[in-house]
Amino acid sequence: MPREIVVATGNPHKVQEIRAILGPLGLVVRSLQDVGGPFPEPEETGRTFEANARIKAIAYAKATGCTVLADDSGLEVDALGGEPGVDSAVWAGAHGARAERDARNNARLAERMHGVPAERRAARFVCCMCLADASGQVLAQTRGTFEGRIGQTPRGGNGFGYDPWLWLEDVGCSAAELDAASKNARSHRGQAARAMASVLGVRA
Ligand code: IMP
Repeated sequence: MPREIVVATGNPHKVQEIRAILGPLGLVVRSLQDVGGPFPEPEETGRTFEANARIKAIAYAKATGCTVLADDSGLEVDALGGEPGVDSAVWAGAHGARAERDARNNARLAERMHGVPAERRAARFVCCMCLADASGQVLAQTRGTFEGRIGQTPRGGNGFGYDPWLWLEDVGCSAAELDAASKNARSHRGQAARAMASVLGVRA
């Protein structure tokens, strides 16, 4: 089983989180830049996180000639019928830099959730991971979820994306108020990555 994997994403936050989770388990986690990127981005045509993770893992494994771990993730809000879901990254438009897209997405979330009562604000982050070998053969797929509810106001400056909006009742803070280790310990990405580590036979 591989001891070195390339994380197929252009999102440096995801690489950082996955490295912090899998690094201590003995896996060497590289970014696309580390192995000579940028590589052509495959079109994410799937309508599920699983399908898009698979598309990315296979495409980047073939492009890099490495074992690749792809992460497809997003936010599901029950009151919005599961939106933004697989469209989370580009929900309010695909133009602009990542920070601008995040700000627009968060503004759209605030607008769509305005006036929704507390008991109807359940939401979760979902992360699906897919591991493919250098030939593009899928070795494993895993999934994790991070339950919470959409807060009344955004809070905190850690993390990325919709983190300031996911309110965690049990600890009384948002996902963006958790430090990196606390987020990884309970997050969708942490769960999916640890499940992947166990498939790979890697133990803490
Ligand atoms: P992807 O790169 O197509 O998988 O898009 C993922 C998008 O989902 C990100 O751009 C964020 O908007 C959102 N997302 C995924 N994981 C997280 C997280 O851990 N915190 C906050 N937002 C997230």
